[in-house]
Amino acid sequence: MTSSAAFAQAPRILPRLDDATDPYWTGGATGELRIAHCAACDRYVHPPRPDCPHCAGPVEFVAVSGDGVVFTHTVNHQAFRPDVPSPYVIALVELAEQPGLRIITNIVDCEPDSVYSGMPVHVRFDAHDAVFVPVFTPPQSG
Ligand code: ZN
Repeated sequence: MTSSAAFAQAPRILPRLDDATDPYWTGGATGELRIAHCAACDRYVHPPRPDCPHCAGPVEFVAVSGDGVVFTHTVNHQAFRPDVPSPYVIALVELAEQPGLRIITNIVDCEPDSVYSGMPVHVRFDAHDAVFVPVFTPPQSG
């Protein structure tokens, strides 16, 4: 297990679930990355909010492919918490569904120094009771 895999299982400060964001944090229970989507203008909206910022229409959560690319990232070497192993990768991942649709996440299951902008990644979920934190991994070889 690489250090970044250990990081994925480390303690996290978890979000408080509410109606506006619950589908995003719990979709991993069924293996789905769910992103808010406005049917009226056919746009994804992230971070989740109750109405579309473009047309004010209602948004509904839909499952996306879970594919994306690393838009930008940083490797954190500072041990801010003794129970969270470093180094680890904080990244902005652009999802395949829409240009500019980016989520803040971690890249795991690889050496932190191997991460680069444009690297293809796929979602997996880091389960903490009812909360499934979306994290991303590079394509697995073999
Ligand atoms: Zn809209």
